[in-house]
Amino acid sequence: LFGYVGIEAVLDQMRVKTMKTGFEFNIMVVGQSGLGKSTMVNTLFKSKVSRKASQPGQEERIPKTVQLQSVTHVIEEKGVKMKLTVTDTPGFGDQINNENCWDPIIKYINEQYERYLREEILITRKRKIPDTRVHGCVYFVPPTGHWLRPLDLEFMRRLSKIVNVVPVIAKADTLTLEERAEFKQRIQQDLKAHAISVYPQEDFDEDPDDRLLNNVIREKIPFAVVGADQEHQVNGRRVLGRKTKWGIIEVENPTHCEFPMLRDLLIRSHLQDLKDITHNVHYESYRVRRLNESNR
Ligand code: GDP
Ligand code: MG
Repeated sequence: LFGYVGIEAVLDQMRVKTMKTGFEFNIMVVGQSGLGKSTMVNTLFKSKVSRKASQPGQEERIPKTVQLQSVTHVIEEKGVKMKLTVTDTPGFGDQINNENCWDPIIKYINEQYERYLREEILITRKRKIPDTRVHGCVYFVPPTGHWLRPLDLEFMRRLSKIVNVVPVIAKADTLTLEERAEFKQRIQQDLKAHAISVYPQEDFDEDPDDRLLNNVIREKIPFAVVGADQEHQVNGRRVLGRKTKWGIIEVENPTHCEFPMLRDLLIRSHLQDLKDITHNVHYESYRVRRLNESNR
């Protein structure tokens, strides 16, 4: 009877369904002022979306970010729509007293879980609940080349319990390749020593294949990134890059920096996994906590 199931047909149906409904994906960038967060938001969109927006050499002044601010682009590929939203945050930890400086970030993340929960518990709920939950939080580590600061550790310790944290070494062009590699190793040791579980978390690898793939990524985290929102002419090609006295650093060139790895992890290879972990782990624990509270 079940000699031929026709999985292919099922996959086609799933594809058609995604084409109709599209999907939402939300990222947040966090870190101290001046580490290139706003620039990175533009870099992500420019490297993904059309290039026609900017003229080469034209200065695009980025105003200082003073409040949480989201930018959304709808990206369409092969008939499937992705609504990509990146939330930029004001400088974090800029004060002399940084006690509780993570509160506004945590509040925002929880508010999105709360919104989703409220829709989900309605008796007549929407077939597709709008999803503003943060699927990945990119944390910018200042390129000191030393160790993580207590503030970095404390932030990641708290945030990794409620969201997927993806740390990056900011402005990596200010470090040599050797310095980047050394700093990366120290950060990995630091995170391990403090039992801070950043994305992709070892506990959530689903099978040995996942584990192998994610081990490779874990060795490379935090990615040493460079951001740029201007284009330059290099050998007749237009590239997104930063001009320095040694030449142009091409942000999309994997031999120049690890921005391409960050982009691929977020919006290509691990997009669905980031969404799944957000829903099944982080949102789930929020939901359980909230429903327990209201039953008391
Ligand atoms: P934010 O405060 O974290 O949002 O930082 P901005 O994106 O506003 O950038 C602050 C300054 O750093 C600007 O002058 C940027 O041009 C510069 N910048 C951004 N990204 C990089 C980078 O990867 N390397 C270097 N060297 N400078 C950067
Ligand atoms: Mg900013």
